[in-house]
Amino acid sequence: MKASAGGYARAVDVPHALELMAGSEGAGRFLAGGQSLIAAMNMRLSEGDMLIDISKIPGLSGVAEDGERLRIGALTRHAEIGRDPLLRQHAPLLSDAVRFIAHAAIRNRGTIGGALAHADPAAEFPACILALGATLHAHGPDGDRDIPAEAFFEDVFTTALAEDEILTAISVPKAEPGERHVIEEMARRSGDYALTGLCLVRRSAGHRLSVFSAGPVPILAKGAMTALDAGDADAAVEALRAEIEPSSDTQATASYRRHLAGVLLRRAIARIEGETA
Ligand SMILES: Cc1cc2nc3c(=O)[nH]c(=O)nc-3n(C[C@H](O)[C@H](O)[C@H](O)COP(=O)(O)OP(=O)(O)OC[C@H]3O[C@@H](n4cnc5c(N)ncnc54)[C@H](O)[C@@H]3O)c2cc1C
Repeated sequence: MKASAGGYARAVDVPHALELMAGSEGAGRFLAGGQSLIAAMNMRLSEGDMLIDISKIPGLSGVAEDGERLRIGALTRHAEIGRDPLLRQHAPLLSDAVRFIAHAAIRNRGTIGGALAHADPAAEFPACILALGATLHAHGPDGDRDIPAEAFFEDVFTTALAEDEILTAISVPKAEPGERHVIEEMARRSGDYALTGLCLVRRSAGHRLSVFSAGPVPILAKGAMTALDAGDADAAVEALRAEIEPSSDTQATASYRRHLAGVLLRRAIARIEGETA
């Protein structure tokens, strides 16, 4: 099936993109890598959209140091995230997540901003930024706005971004010496969305554990984090299984996903302990 688009315009900068959105009478959709939006249009899940192409806006791509944080432009592509040396050194969780995302062709086009704005509950980057404690930077008609990752994901495919706001960048804290990052997931085939997955960060201040494909939004598993801080892996697994809300579908039952989350957590703990030993 072919997509049904209501028009196309390429934005030259962020103010131009907002101007095009304001003039679109509600039909405007920002187009970044197109790997989710165009797929949805091809399936006619979305029709008559006025595509506002933001993919060529200068200054919204790449990774830069910003004091104790890294600033990642929203248009940075998945493949660039995977090979960026600053991310490899200071936020390896994001680098490691890339190999789990789809296939090379999609990773060459898809952008981190698109993945976050799309907010698929099975996607990897949303859970990564939760575990890292990232801040999302948006720009809209009222100016700039910073949104903590914990307040960003509201429901399936729904975020705190307004329709006329552009996600411009994401900033993450640089890892402190000795900090450990692990991502674990299970998918039926390489490149498929995860049946369930999790991200574990161990800092001197404590553990941060996020879970994806285990409910309508990725969550921080706070009960399990407390048990991990106390050094009790069994209690962490039990708490994790209790605090997620997986659903059953054609891929897996809720109870299988709940079981899997515990298995993945034990693997993540073993990897972190193995790396430290
Ligand atoms: C076959 C297939 C398999 C996939 N498997 C995975 C997977 O395993 N894991 C995974 O995480 N993803 C997967 N994806 C999705 C992929 O990662 C997409 O690239 C990503 O979800 C969307 O990024 P994009 O840049 O292509 O966004 P687009 O498709 O261009 O846009 C997606 C949505 O975000 C909005 N948007 C985009 N950028 C911005 C911005 N800067 N500000 C505000 N709104 C914005 C758009 O308006 C649209 O609503 C898969 C996709 C396909 C087609």
